[in-house]
Amino acid sequence: MFESGNKPVVEDTEENRAICRKYCRNCQNYRKYCLGKFQPTELFCACGQSSVPDMKLLGCYCTGCEVYTKYHLRGGFFCVRR
Ligand code: SF4
Ligand code: SF4
Repeated sequence: MFESGNKPVVEDTEENRAICRKYCRNCQNYRKYCLGKFQPTELFCACGQSSVPDMKLLGCYCTGCEVYTKYHLRGGFFCVRR
């Protein structure tokens, strides 16, 4: 983990991606908008928001995710906004 300002930055690692898949792929936003077909396909908290336009905030599992806790993230819905 490295620091950018005071906030830890989520690293784009296979380990973090594997954790992410347990949550994002089961969430309403991911399914409804077929997020797996657009870049980035996962780990939105590290890779940035999805390229799918005009998504609503349907529900988010990020707050239950180990990456969310480890990096002290806030807010969730990282596929929609950062
Ligand atoms: S916080 Fe959300 S986007 Fe980041 S790894 Fe966890 S489930 Fe994925
Ligand atoms: S970032 Fe949150 S809302 Fe988006 S796909 Fe992952 S769990 Fe769902």
